[in-house]
Amino acid sequence: MFQAFLIKYGEIGVKGKNRYVFEDALVARMKQVLYPVEGSFQITKEQGRIYVEAEGPFDYEETILALQRVFGIVGICPVVLREDQGFEALSKDVMDYMHQMYDGVKKTFKVHTRRANKHYPMTSPEVNEEIGGRILEAFPDLTVDVHKPDIMLHIELRSHHINIYSEVIPGPGGMPLGTNGRSMLLLSGGIDSPVAGYMVAKRGVYIDAVYFHAPPYTSERAKQKVVDLAQKVARYSGPVRLHVINFTDIQMYIYDQCPHDELTIIMRRYMMRIAQKLAEDTGCLALITGESIGQVASQTVPSLAATNDVCTLPVFRPLIAFDKEDIVTIAKKIDTYEISILPYEDCCTTFVAKHPVTKPQVERIRKSERALEEKIEEMVREALETEEILEIR
Ligand code: ATP
Ligand code: MG
Repeated sequence: MFQAFLIKYGEIGVKGKNRYVFEDALVARMKQVLYPVEGSFQITKEQGRIYVEAEGPFDYEETILALQRVFGIVGICPVVLREDQGFEALSKDVMDYMHQMYDGVKKTFKVHTRRANKHYPMTSPEVNEEIGGRILEAFPDLTVDVHKPDIMLHIELRSHHINIYSEVIPGPGGMPLGTNGRSMLLLSGGIDSPVAGYMVAKRGVYIDAVYFHAPPYTSERAKQKVVDLAQKVARYSGPVRLHVINFTDIQMYIYDQCPHDELTIIMRRYMMRIAQKLAEDTGCLALITGESIGQVASQTVPSLAATNDVCTLPVFRPLIAFDKEDIVTIAKKIDTYEISILPYEDCCTTFVAKHPVTKPQVERIRKSERALEEKIEEMVREALETEEILEIR
């Protein structure tokens, strides 16, 4: 029955000049997600509204699912679009709509008319009253409730056409991709980092990713897991460029030269340094990690401070105050959880000390790192030069 959708988006912060940037980014992303969906779609902007109209047959369910992954959309309303052909034609369209949607259901309703076309010969209250009366007459199971109706029937009298809709399917909210630059996600095979990437992308930030691979300590399957996770994130964030950095030599060198209870922290400091170089080379404005206070020894507040000590770019840690349970809920929602819990080792589990420091002192860590001076710069350069780049769509 529906050939079109009215897209609702958040209005906050999108006034004035920014509004066009926001709307254009939203439309661009909508085109991108609808491209693989069966059907041909026309997307139009009109006075603070965005419409998706299908030309000919299309896959309704897939269309909704695709739009539900577009950040910035707060509601997707299947809508009947009609040209204005007078009140009687409108009334007939509304009755047809109600028959298709609500025949025989016991519910309450309210008619809510908005008149953008000030030349329409009836006022909004007049339309509400007349249409409401006709619905009551034609549908004995429906009753009126003006305060908390089950069905809010919207009739919008626009300048060029009329909208009839009552269903609002929730969108993901957030900000359209591309309205907030690009950031570099440190993506491991765990539960947290894909969720962190999703959350920052949701604020309109494009995502690139870096994975530190340590063959043969980490297997090809562990790497594939990260690729699969990046793919899941990309369904929301758009294409992700995944940088795979071979971290083995650096890890071994740290293992040989530094106190073992500081291994994890020093490794994490090198991950941050390398991620930062990559970020700077690729126009990323910040780093993103899945860190959360207290989750493991390397995420106590002193450990986070010691890791952060090497960062000059902002580091976004959207999960910092989340409990694991809440992170898992999001991981399930975005369909990364089942991949994340596959049991392949990651590079940190191979080299963890039995008793890692939980209160590292930055000064001491810096001193320990001096033992790396001879070769580390060369090794970092080598790791960056031999990176593998995967384009994830
Ligand atoms: P996750 O579930 O995201 O793996 P975690 O709880 O296992 O996180 P750590 O292993 O301490 O935590 O890692 C903390 C953060 O550091 C991760 O969320 C991720 O952003 C980054 N990170 C850890 N290991 C790697 C890796 N091999 N490659 C890229 N980033 C990594
Ligand atoms: Mg991990």
